[in-house]
Amino acid sequence: MARTPRVTAPPGRLIVLSGPSGVGKDTVLHELRRLDPSLRYSVSYTTRQPRPGEEDGVAYSFIDEATFRAMAERGEFLEWADVHGHCYGTSEARIKEALDRGEDIVLKIDVQGASWIRPRVAGAVFIFLLPPSEEELRRRLVARDTEDEASLELRFNNAVAELADGAAYDHRVVNDDVFRAAEEILDIVRSRRAAIPG
Ligand code: 5GP
Repeated sequence: MARTPRVTAPPGRLIVLSGPSGVGKDTVLHELRRLDPSLRYSVSYTTRQPRPGEEDGVAYSFIDEATFRAMAERGEFLEWADVHGHCYGTSEARIKEALDRGEDIVLKIDVQGASWIRPRVAGAVFIFLLPPSEEELRRRLVARDTEDEASLELRFNNAVAELADGAAYDHRVVNDDVFRAAEEILDIVRSRRAAIPG
């Protein structure tokens, strides 16, 4: 599916954050936005069920498969992917609006989505969050305790396989400490702002 790029990163900048399930992307993102409230976060659409405490329109926009398919057919997603058996997609309109307003926006997407965006969005920065070790990753997945046993195994196996994909990213950040990792990401964003002024 070849498409002409319709979105370019300046005047706002697109920051793509990926990392295996359980690595702590949400906590790092939360800290990142606390450190820099001007950063926007792209709310994705998903067909998966909300987890306890997840609010519609905040964590994700939760939709059913038929709605997702219709949106995909209408070309409303900048990218979308099947992750762990559920569909996740980034609204092109939401991204474009933020970038046009000159806002820097963070996309928390999987490696398939990132590799779709890489050749299509000029000036985007790609950051991969790594766990300190595989053992620590499993421990965090178990501690999260939101998955049944089969889903946990699937996510862990996918997560280990995904670690290798980090090589394709501009920056790899180890989430050994949430605050330190968020500071490191903010330094990357700041140097990107200096390189590509909005
Ligand atoms: P979770 O269900 O744990 O919130 O997310 C599962 C995976 O889906 C994570 O790797 C997350 O980064 C990815 N994901 C979330 N939103 C999107 C999206 O819009 N597009 C893509 N490609 N992946 C997404």
